[in-house]
Amino acid sequence: MTGRILEIFSSIQGEGIYAGTPMVFVRFTGCNLNCDYCDTPESQKLEKGNILTTEEIISKIEQELSLSKKTSIISFTGGEPVLHAEIISDIIHNFKSKGIKSYIDTNGTLCENFSKIVDIIDYVAMDIKLPSSCEAEFWREHLEFLKMSKNKTFIKIVLTAKTAYNEFRKAIEIIEQVDSSIPLVLQPVTVIRNIEPMPFDVVRAFRKLAEEKLANVSIIPQTHKKKGIR
Ligand code: SF4
Repeated sequence: MTGRILEIFSSIQGEGIYAGTPMVFVRFTGCNLNCDYCDTPESQKLEKGNILTTEEIISKIEQELSLSKKTSIISFTGGEPVLHAEIISDIIHNFKSKGIKSYIDTNGTLCENFSKIVDIIDYVAMDIKLPSSCEAEFWREHLEFLKMSKNKTFIKIVLTAKTAYNEFRKAIEIIEQVDSSIPLVLQPVTVIRNIEPMPFDVVRAFRKLAEEKLANVSIIPQTHKKKGIR
């Protein structure tokens, strides 16, 4: 089997509730969405990736793991890594018996593909994509995706100046419908191109709204961008 890979490297997780954790990152190319705040546009196009075999990907991950001995988690990212569920499944199976855990950063929309790895993945960082930034509604897909993975998932919602109250409230309803204890991270957008940030007093108001329904809500910006780490 082969996969389209942009890069494999060791770094520190910069987003969400595992921010600060060392991981080996496997960045696939190709994405089914086109979010206006995308900070990895080079990974959206499938053809930008190098074609690597499963064995070549595993070998590169092993090299990174041996260089950074404190790392015991592989993070699959993109693009949208769930597009590559079959090769991810092979990679996870290879490392599971060695005590290496797996993490996936996903837009939470490709349920059929995700069903191939949901039982073996350890941690799921799932975005809820809001129509104001991502061109379409994915409420049904997000609900189904979250139902499949709720015990190992935290949710991330990127907030920009365009984020509308009604769509945010709808996202909160979906999380509450599945399990109100699922952690929710509000991520104020990292300003790129012409994307306007949400004023911080509005971010706090959105957090208050979420806390009326959910037990575990935090505000965590992209820490790696602030520190200049990739
Ligand atoms: S889902 Fe992720 S990779 Fe795809 S366009 Fe949106 S932010 Fe970029």
